[in-house]
Amino acid sequence: MPSTSRLHKWSHEEHLRGAVFLDRDGVINKLIYHQEAGVVDSPFTVAQFQLLPRVPIAIRMLNDLGLPVIVVSNQPGIAKKHFSARTLRDFDRKLNDALTSAGAHVDAIYYCTHHPDSLIPRLRKRCDCRKPGIAMLKQAAKAFGISLKNSFMIGDGLTDIEAGSRAGCRTIFVGRWKCECCSFIRPQGLRPEFVAHNLWGAVQVVLAEYSGVPAPERRARKTFAAGACKL
Ligand SMILES: [Mg+2]
Ligand SMILES: [Zn+2]
Repeated sequence: MPSTSRLHKWSHEEHLRGAVFLDRDGVINKLIYHQEAGVVDSPFTVAQFQLLPRVPIAIRMLNDLGLPVIVVSNQPGIAKKHFSARTLRDFDRKLNDALTSAGAHVDAIYYCTHHPDSLIPRLRKRCDCRKPGIAMLKQAAKAFGISLKNSFMIGDGLTDIEAGSRAGCRTIFVGRWKCECCSFIRPQGLRPEFVAHNLWGAVQVVLAEYSGVPAPERRARKTFAAGACKL
């Protein structure tokens, strides 16, 4: 397997392999516009849980590379009474079934179900796991024996980039990096290392980093390195 030697070359610095951490909503599955509340949020029902295009094949490419693929997601929907714990498990089942059909898998799914304003007392908490907290990343690193420094965090939210960066991971933002992102991200000068249109694009960045062949998304790095937001 050619990927074996690449992995060896990649991780010799820390002797530990990295993982790929994936945010869920907006990266793996579609965000939903909830008309009654007028907000874009995670799916509340199993029918609303729809994978984005090319997600299973993108994840399979990471599987083929031998990297653990770990979902790390804030899911305050139970705390807000948008859905039940059982529905959350049904989302997982739907995801896992779709991945299995494509010969892909995720190695673990970590959720933070807390929220500071939870309607359910046991979930009302200011926790370390809710991103930009990094407790989920640290827990996964320990469980899988991986190096956070050799890992990628892929997400469509500023908190994904913040958490990834705080944990020492390399970061890939999914979506359009708008001017307002520069104003709202904390610390303010923080930028993702890469920007990709979707998970597929982000995975091409990871593959390129492992193989040494540049992906189109690498251009983003130069934009940010120049320190100027061009949007
Ligand atoms: Mg998201
Ligand atoms: Zn939490």
